[in-house]
Amino acid sequence: MAHSYDETNIFARILRGEIPNKTVIETDHTLAFHDINPQAPHHVLVIPKGPYVTFDHFCAEASDAEIVDFHRTAASVCAMLGVSLGDGGAGYRGITNAGGHGGQEVPHYHLHIVGGAPLGRMLSRD
Ligand code: AMP
Repeated sequence: MAHSYDETNIFARILRGEIPNKTVIETDHTLAFHDINPQAPHHVLVIPKGPYVTFDHFCAEASDAEIVDFHRTAASVCAMLGVSLGDGGAGYRGITNAGGHGGQEVPHYHLHIVGGAPLGRMLSRD
């Protein structure tokens, strides 16, 4: 079954400028902004501007330019937050949730970059 993108989701509304966001960095294909409910001292969401629902949808159907830009922008976010090991940072966690079992709340593909403190165990079923 093909992916079905909901144009009314909150990140689509952010991309259309209908609701504000705290932008970290923006490119032609990608937007990164602070999560409204941070789970750690650093919590930034990286989203493609195109209508992709999940990680696998993005990887399968986005253009090479979108995919490269998304990941380069994520790297820029890590550098800007000072969490990249390459800059002497202490690390971070990249998380992407998909669908019901993944606990995805917003059906527009996003990468959470979370850091600034030790993050504990990788998975919780709370
Ligand atoms: P997920 O559960 O992976 O779909 O994560 C959705 C994330 O979007 C959560 O961490 C929310 O706190 C975050 N979020 C929801 N609405 C907004 C918003 N308007 N601005 C920034 N982050 C948001």
